Amino acid sequence: MPPRCRLHAKVTALSQFASTSGAAAPISTEALIIGAGPCGLFQVFELGLLGISAHVVDSLQHPGGQCAELYPDKPIYDIPALPVCGAQELVDRLLQQIKPFKAQLHLGQEVVEFARRDSGRFHLATAGGVSFDAGAVVIAAGLGSFQPRRIGIEGAQAFEGSAIQYRIRNAAELAGRHLVIFGGGDSALDWTLELLSKAASLTLVHRRKEFRAAPASVGRMQQAVAAGNMRLFEALPHSLLTADGALRGVNIRAPDGAVHALPADRLLVFFGLHPKLGPIADWGLALERKALTVDTEKFQTSVPGVFAIGDINTYPGKKKLILSGFHEAALAAFAIQHHLYPQKKQFLQYTTTSPVMQQRLGVTG
Ligand SMILES: Cc1cc2nc3c(=O)[nH]c(=O)nc-3n(C[C@H](O)[C@H](O)[C@H](O)COP(=O)(O)OP(=O)(O)OC[C@H]3O[C@@H](n4cnc5c(N)ncnc54)[C@H](O)[C@@H]3O)c2cc1C
Repeated sequence: MPPRCRLHAKVTALSQFASTSGAAAPISTEALIIGAGPCGLFQVFELGLLGISAHVVDSLQHPGGQCAELYPDKPIYDIPALPVCGAQELVDRLLQQIKPFKAQLHLGQEVVEFARRDSGRFHLATAGGVSFDAGAVVIAAGLGSFQPRRIGIEGAQAFEGSAIQYRIRNAAELAGRHLVIFGGGDSALDWTLELLSKAASLTLVHRRKEFRAAPASVGRMQQAVAAGNMRLFEALPHSLLTADGALRGVNIRAPDGAVHALPADRLLVFFGLHPKLGPIADWGLALERKALTVDTEKFQTSVPGVFAIGDINTYPGKKKLILSGFHEAALAAFAIQHHLYPQKKQFLQYTTTSPVMQQRLGVTG
C-alpha cells in the first residue's frame, strides 16, 4: 500500500503481532476469534485474563472493524470512563491492552470454511489457505466481512481480479501500463500518487468535484494534473471497451451526459468497502435476520463451542453497541474456559488483587 498517515499508525500498533500470509499445516489454538473489530480484540483480553490464548482472523488488512474502516476520525462518547475517544484511538488502545497476551493476528484473510470435527474441535480455513484446528470459536464478525464495492457495469465481472482490480496485490505489475483509477477517497488518491511516476499514463475519474481523501493528497494530485502528468475527469463509469476478449479501456459519462472513451489496460476501482455476512450464513448456525442467535449466559450459538459476540449476534433486547460487545466478551470467556476445561473450577478474580492475572498481564501488584 502507498503511504498513508492513518495506515502508518496502524502498522506501528500492529508491530507487536506476528502475521501470516499462508501456512500448510493447521494452526492449533485454544480459541479462534473471527473478526478483529473492537469486540474481537476485547475477547482476546478477556480470554487472556483466564489464561486462554487466541488467534484472530480478519478479512481487512488492519484491525478495528467498523471503527477503523467506517469512522476512524469520529469521536465516540459512550465508552465507559473515556468521556471522548476517537474510533481509531479506541482500536489503538485495545491493541495496547491486549499486547501482553501476544495474540496472533491474521489480517487480509477471510474465514470461508467451518466444520466441527468428530473430536469436538473445529476446522476453519481462510480463502488465503490458512487453516486452524480450534478448541472453541468466537464469531465477532460484526456486520460481516468487508468487501469492495464493485464497478457494476456490464461485462466487468469477467475482468475482475485481472484487468479490473479492487485491491492492488502486485503494484510492480502495473508499471508501464495505461491506468484508469476510479474513486475519490484515500485509497484512490494514494494509489494515484503512488503509481503516477510508474504508469505509462494515468487518469483519475471521480463522480463529483469534491474529494473525501486527505486535502494534502488532493492538492498533490491537482498539481500533477496542472503539470500535465495525469488527467482528471468528473464522470461515472459507463461501459467497457473490449476487443478479442481483452480489456482495451472504459467509456465514462460526464455530468452533461457526454460519453468519452478512455483507452486503458487496467481499471483500478476504489469505491470503498461494505460489509457482507458472507460464508458465515452457510455454516449451519441458527440465524435470525442475518444475526447469530445466542443465549445471554454464555453467548453461545446453536453449536456448542461456537460463541458469537458483538454486532453479529442477537438475543432479546440486543443493542448493537461496543459496550454490549465488551460485556458479551467477558461472559463468553468464562463459557469458553468451561467448554475447553470442564473440570476446572471457576471463580471470579479481580485484576486489582489477583496475582495470577497480574502475572498474565505482565504487571506487578
Ligand atoms: C458511523 C458509525 C458510528 C458508530 N458510533 C458508535 C458509538 O458511538 N458507540 C457505539 O457503541 N457504537 C457505535 N457504532 C457501532 C460500533 O461500531 C459497532 O457496534 C462495533 O464496531 C461492533 O464491533 P464488532 O467487533 O462486533 O464488529 P465490527 O466492528 O463490525 O468488526 C467485525 C470484523 O469482522 C471481520 N469479519 C467478518 N466476517 C469475517 C470473516 N468471514 N472472516 C474474517 N473476518 C471477518 C470484518 O472484516 C470486521 O473487521 C457506530 C457505527 C458506525 C457505522
